[in-house]
Amino acid sequence: MWSLRFDPRARGMFRQPASDVPGAALKSPRPRPTLGFMADTLEIVCPHCATVNRIPSPRLGEGPKCGQCHQALFTAHPVELGSANFRRHLERNAIPLVVDFWAPWCGPCQMMAPEYAAAAAQLEPGVRFGKVNTDADPALGGEFGIRSIPTLIYFRGGREIARRSGAMGRADIARWVRSL
Ligand SMILES: [Zn+2]
Repeated sequence: MWSLRFDPRARGMFRQPASDVPGAALKSPRPRPTLGFMADTLEIVCPHCATVNRIPSPRLGEGPKCGQCHQALFTAHPVELGSANFRRHLERNAIPLVVDFWAPWCGPCQMMAPEYAAAAAQLEPGVRFGKVNTDADPALGGEFGIRSIPTLIYFRGGREIARRSGAMGRADIARWVRSL
């Protein structure tokens, strides 16, 4: 009895009822209380380092950060996509991916860029927005049969669902994406 009574570990066990420390059970990163959420996780590819993160879906709108590089998974800006990271974003994001195929010399592309960024800020984190510079990565433009720019393609589950060519304003982009 004496050894139990003065064992600091045992003492600690008796001194830690949740009611003594309001909120402690929620703040501590113990895995067990979150197990219920684990069944409903979404894979999100980091826009900075392309690591695939598993995010509980209720946390998606709470500014989740990358477990690898610790930067924000959503930045309200389109992700620059190229041969190095396009496939990962296309195939591993649990959320739909919209891609703007553009080029620096294209006037309508330049006009649409801030509109596209505004649509990204509006629709994240439900949708990932990306951009492919078809001058820098002509193979990607060829793979998707891009004949004019800007062309937007909406992907879900790695498959093309819809596409639209020509510059659009932020409201039209958002309306189109929401309709899919
Ligand atoms: Zn990262």
